[in-house]
Amino acid sequence: MTSTQWQHPKLPSVLPVVPAVQDVTTTAEQVNSGMARITNPTETPIYICAMDNCYRLFPSRDRVMAHRKRDHDTEDREEIITWNE
Ligand SMILES: [Zn+2]
Repeated sequence: MTSTQWQHPKLPSVLPVVPAVQDVTTTAEQVNSGMARITNPTETPIYICAMDNCYRLFPSRDRVMAHRKRDHDTEDREEIITWNE
């Protein structure tokens, strides 16, 4: 018998900007069945480059800075949105 591995959903590297609101449609049953999952900053680090309406997602501050240097030609450490710090 093979166990079913939980697949991480693939997110696009750029997400549309919308206000964050509470999820009032996902039921407890859906969460428990694996359709949805609660996470936290330790498990799912998120760093967003908020420079020039960029909004690309990265797993670490270092990755944001590497992206900045390459794509924005700057090492400015401001305008990073994260729930990890
Ligand atoms: Zn950027």
